[in-house]
Amino acid sequence: MDLQFFALVFLLALVEARAQFKPAQPCEPQKCLPPNCRCSEDRKPPGGLTPKETPQIIMVTFDDGIEERFYDLYIELLDEVRNPNGCPAVATLFNCNVGTNYFWVETAYSKGFEIADHTVTHQGATYYEKANYTVWKNDIDGQKEILHR
Ligand SMILES: [Zn+2]
Repeated sequence: MDLQFFALVFLLALVEARAQFKPAQPCEPQKCLPPNCRCSEDRKPPGGLTPKETPQIIMVTFDDGIEERFYDLYIELLDEVRNPNGCPAVATLFNCNVGTNYFWVETAYSKGFEIADHTVTHQGATYYEKANYTVWKNDIDGQKEILHR
């Protein structure tokens, strides 16, 4: 194949590709209304709020086993932090059974921390990619049952 023929085929393919490309249509703010639609160029806060009135939410989470040294770290990080309503800031602790001392789970829970289910065994991503439904269910439900005891 000579170079000129190759260049011609390439240009025809490029023209064909461009002909199939359809740019996004302009958004119509009167028709595109939340919660089902929101124009991407609309950067205003929802509900007619001003930026100053818009609540800013920060979620703090930690995962894995809960033990004394980690509990002490959570307290050290959040002890002086207050929400605008004066309530203490807390975190969600995604708890797995591995390395957990349940005394510290109960202590954190009594301080207002949310305790969430991580897994029983805390395997790696490769393990879960190959695991079947029963393995997933046992690992997640098993930790849920442990936390309910
Ligand atoms: Zn983890």
